[in-house]
Amino acid sequence: MEQHLYESEHEEFRQLCRTFLDREAVPHHEEWERAGIVDPVVWRKAGAAGLLGMDVDEEFGGGGQRDFRFNAVLVEEIVRSRCSGLGFALHNDVVAPYLADLTTPEQRKRWLPRFCSGEMITAIAMSEPGAGSDLAGVRTTAVRDGDSYLLNGQKTFITNGENADLVIVVAKTDPAQGAHGVSLIVVERGAPGFERGRRLAKVGLKANDTAELFFADCRVPVDNLIGEENSGFYHLMANLPRERVSIAVAAVAAAERVLDITLDYARGREAFGRPIGSFQHNRFLLAELATEVTIARTFLNQCVVELNAGRLSVADAAMVKWWTTELQNKVADRCVQLHGGYGYMLEYPVARAWLDGRVQTIYGGTTEIMKEIIGRSLGL
Ligand SMILES: Cc1cc2nc3c(=O)[nH]c(=O)nc-3n(C[C@H](O)[C@H](O)[C@H](O)COP(=O)(O)OP(=O)(O)OC[C@H]3O[C@@H](n4cnc5c(N)ncnc54)[C@H](O)[C@@H]3O)c2cc1C
Repeated sequence: MEQHLYESEHEEFRQLCRTFLDREAVPHHEEWERAGIVDPVVWRKAGAAGLLGMDVDEEFGGGGQRDFRFNAVLVEEIVRSRCSGLGFALHNDVVAPYLADLTTPEQRKRWLPRFCSGEMITAIAMSEPGAGSDLAGVRTTAVRDGDSYLLNGQKTFITNGENADLVIVVAKTDPAQGAHGVSLIVVERGAPGFERGRRLAKVGLKANDTAELFFADCRVPVDNLIGEENSGFYHLMANLPRERVSIAVAAVAAAERVLDITLDYARGREAFGRPIGSFQHNRFLLAELATEVTIARTFLNQCVVELNAGRLSVADAAMVKWWTTELQNKVADRCVQLHGGYGYMLEYPVARAWLDGRVQTIYGGTTEIMKEIIGRSLGL
């Protein structure tokens, strides 16, 4: 089905992304997977190529394009290139709006140029060992002490956690107020009392540095508060829909890619003297998956249009997040089965896609939490 989301400028940008990834990331990705982390040099090269901060104002070195379609193209191309360790989506799609929209002019000058050049890699630290879905339950505190905040606590599962030069930390500034006492505080590399913990060993996304972070009387200037003090929860709620659309973009791109690979395989692989795709069971299965992936693409594209127009509701973002990521896992699982034993071999892209995709229904808000959000919007 013809889709009408992208225009010629997005397709030109796609070509730029593709050339960049094929040249600067694909040849190194296996090495990064073995290391468990990408070389930060690729971030600076991505910045120089215009792949970071596409919607940040040009005066700070950004692309000046307030159009999420550019972000979506980059995510799709990262999926296509199988460079799942690159945490660019977290930086561009998740962190950028906090630094561009919730900051003072002085903060923007301080952080955004290096954000766009790739000299500053970013992360956002919400989850803790005792609080993931239930964000209001975070225990990390930030107590005012003169012109500083003193942070104490621990974060876990933080994407780009080890490479990050700037981390937006979700902390309680007024613990008695629960969700109404949460603030967003920037902690930069080298802040006293800020330590990284283990690099976590994961099932997939092997080249991405997912880390624990520790704050022990970590002192940062009060100027590092972003947004309003004690309004952090509302800032998070306002920005999570964009994060969820970004995850859905990756989900649909991954499902399309795995389906394409598997269609080729099902046409070529023979059993009982026939291509395995010609058995009615497999033909129907592939027909069903192709239908669902087309539905997912159509819904997702509409959500991107709504997001660009500032109209995407929290419930719609939750719908597209849970439905496309569950579909991604279903497609990957069925496609592994269609590959037989080869589907279980890491040298086959379908096996990698299955492993890398599993987390998609978990981070950015689990499927169950998405359904809670949708249920509430239905008055239930
Ligand atoms: C690879 C990876 C990268 C990540 N990156 C980041 C990051 O950059 N920054 C960050 O802050 N976090 C990150 N996370 C953390 C992620 O967002 C959390 O793991 C996720 O929100 C779930 O929280 P939890 O693990 O504490 O699970 P829990 O909240 O303990 O949930 C456990 C199970 O209970 C279910 N559950 C919980 N509450 C309900 C409910 N009310 N109704 C029904 N079911 C419920 C959940 O759906 C889940 O199935 C990352 C995680 C991973 C694995």
